[in-house]
Amino acid sequence: MLASFRSRVALTNLAITLIALLVLTFVFTQLLRQHSIDVAQNGVSKSASQLARDVNREQSRVRNKDINAQGMYNYFWHDSKLLGNRVIFYSGNGLCGFDSKYYRRVATTQGNGCLAGNYSQWRLSPISLHRSLSRFVRSGSRTFLVTQRPTREGAVALVTDASSVIPTWSTIAPVFLVASLAAAIVFVLIAVYFAYAVSRPLGRVTAAAVAMSRGDYSQRVNVSGSGEIEELGRSFNHMATQVAASHQLLKDFVANVSHDLRTPLTIISGYADSLLDGTARNESEWREGAAVIAGEAVRMQHLVDNLLQLTRLESGLRKFDQKPVSVRSLVESTIRRTAGTADGRIVTNVVPENMPLAWADEELVERVLMNLLSNALEYTPPGGTIEIGARLHAGWIQVSVSDTGSGIRLEDQARIFERFYRVDKGRSRESGHSGLGLPIVKEIIEAHGGALDLESTPGRGSTFRFTIPRFSPQT
Ligand code: ADP
Repeated sequence: MLASFRSRVALTNLAITLIALLVLTFVFTQLLRQHSIDVAQNGVSKSASQLARDVNREQSRVRNKDINAQGMYNYFWHDSKLLGNRVIFYSGNGLCGFDSKYYRRVATTQGNGCLAGNYSQWRLSPISLHRSLSRFVRSGSRTFLVTQRPTREGAVALVTDASSVIPTWSTIAPVFLVASLAAAIVFVLIAVYFAYAVSRPLGRVTAAAVAMSRGDYSQRVNVSGSGEIEELGRSFNHMATQVAASHQLLKDFVANVSHDLRTPLTIISGYADSLLDGTARNESEWREGAAVIAGEAVRMQHLVDNLLQLTRLESGLRKFDQKPVSVRSLVESTIRRTAGTADGRIVTNVVPENMPLAWADEELVERVLMNLLSNALEYTPPGGTIEIGARLHAGWIQVSVSDTGSGIRLEDQARIFERFYRVDKGRSRESGHSGLGLPIVKEIIEAHGGALDLESTPGRGSTFRFTIPRFSPQT
């Protein structure tokens, strides 16, 4: 269960959340604790200041003999009881003048509660007698907050038990623990939700991929949302479309090849049988049978050659040998090679003499010219013209093969670059055409990085244009 993507995402989120919560709890607890101390210390400071004013007032009343010292001590003893804190006066020489802790308890305190001995732990030094101070003092196992304020004749100190100022962990921690727990629960729910939201579409993609691997190429996933997951869904669907298309292509390919091979094989087998079983009786019939067998064999050889060429080009098996090539010379030699089939059609090389060299595989470009020119000758009636020209176009060499032949209908124009596509299937096959000529041309031109396009008007003629790179000395 822990190996699943969903649980790992949820656990990672949870771990990060818990660590963040722990850190936050610790920091906030510290801050809260410090804040509580500051607030309490502030309260004690105010009481100490008030006390200092009271001491000044009461001492002047003693001086004016409105009350005696004992009356003043009683006043502060009650005051200390009210405040719940110990009150100590220091006289100008730094000695104890009154201590509420032992007042009324010990007979030996000369009536002012001061024990014989050192009170210095409750104040800093004689100099600091005149300062306002607040500090924590350890006495035995206990800690006290001593808040001192100067008075006219000395100083007064308010001694508070530190436990009433410093909050203990046990008072703060439960609040934070409860808050953290509540936050952790909310985060767990959110983490689980997000993990689920992320993994659910992944699950759908996985299921579709499994179905595809079993041969169901119709699989598409509906992944809504945003970001990478949606991108993944779109990429998967794109891939599925491509796989389905190439699977279909393969099926069509096998069907086409089988069909194109079956017809000549049937013819060959029929004529071979007639030669063997004696149906062909005289020499002229033997010759006729042998000629048909030879013709069909050549047709099959042509088909297999084309298939091999296409496969080699597609798979990159054909070594690509680019070098500077003169387009004009190449056109010239192609025209010369097809001169025997011109049959009353005028073929002209209109490539300018100063045309720059192309950077191409000579043999392949010659194949392109050969295929285009053969087609042009095939579909142009005697008396028609064919022109092969070239020009510079956007830094490339654009070659055009124009004829005044039959032209191609618009609905066929988009499809003639598909394998085995022939406009007139019967006629093409009769004349040995397999529908692989233009796909080979396209493959060769694209291998050069160029583009192939067609402009054709039925009944008036066609122009095939292709681009190949221009040679530059740096190439
Ligand atoms: P094929 O080897 O059968 O000629 P191609 O791929 O070379 O196959 O051509 C496909 C189809 O395109 C041909 O069947 C033909 O109908 C059409 N075609 C090609 N070139 C021309 C052209 N110059 N004029 C008219 N139709 C053409």
